[in-house]
Amino acid sequence: MNKAVRKTVIAGNWKMNKTRPEAKALIEELKPLTAKADCDVVICVPYTNLETALALTEGSNIKVGAENCHWAESGAFTGEISALMLKEMGVQYVIIGHSERRQYFGETDVTVNKRVRAALDAGLTVILCVGELLEQREQGITEEICAMQTKIALAGVTEEELSRIIIAYEPVWAIGTGKTATSEQADEVNGYIRSVVAKLYNNNAAQKLTIQYGGSMNAKNADELLAKEHVDGGLIGGASLKAPDFAAIVAAASK
Ligand code: PEP
Repeated sequence: MNKAVRKTVIAGNWKMNKTRPEAKALIEELKPLTAKADCDVVICVPYTNLETALALTEGSNIKVGAENCHWAESGAFTGEISALMLKEMGVQYVIIGHSERRQYFGETDVTVNKRVRAALDAGLTVILCVGELLEQREQGITEEICAMQTKIALAGVTEEELSRIIIAYEPVWAIGTGKTATSEQADEVNGYIRSVVAKLYNNNAAQKLTIQYGGSMNAKNADELLAKEHVDGGLIGGASLKAPDFAAIVAAASK
């Protein structure tokens, strides 16, 4: 991370976990543990927990995000939630393009771009996930995949809007597997993504962009990953479900 130049953001991705009472207990435990954070702290929670999370984090330094949103403002899209609905509730962040959405729910680079556009139009900050599959890393096309996902997702996004984009580099082979990318691998790809953004916009805009790493980041490896120049925080799945673990990552990012 390079706090002189850009924000460090630690975001939890709860995925499809926690009933409302469980969410309440986790947030209550987390609040005192992260109260002195010197980084941005976000929890992205299931839709059913948004209201609980918003109420319980009021007045604290924890911000609330959703895990997806639809591209239309309203309409016949049974089961979907619009960016406008999230914004109206007071939600500030939304994860878009998570690999689980791409893998299990038919999300494509084009639909990711549509969702990014809708989220920005509604005034939300986007955590945009990109990352390669294991086969793609083995084929030596990690950079091509990340460049393509980044370029398509950011189509039509202005330089000014880029201040409401966070990119999360999440190698798919490292998500929920316990296999973390080495800090060198994370730094290399994050730096590469920054160079792609510099070509799309300019160097100044790219330097200011927060690029997280995600994939089995935990209390033990966070220090080493976050020490790298281009790793500006983390998107945390499993470890965000345990308050002491998530707080330890927040503490590592607060150094
Ligand atoms: C994620 O879901 O974005 C993630 C990085 O999960 P985990 O930390 O469990 O690998």
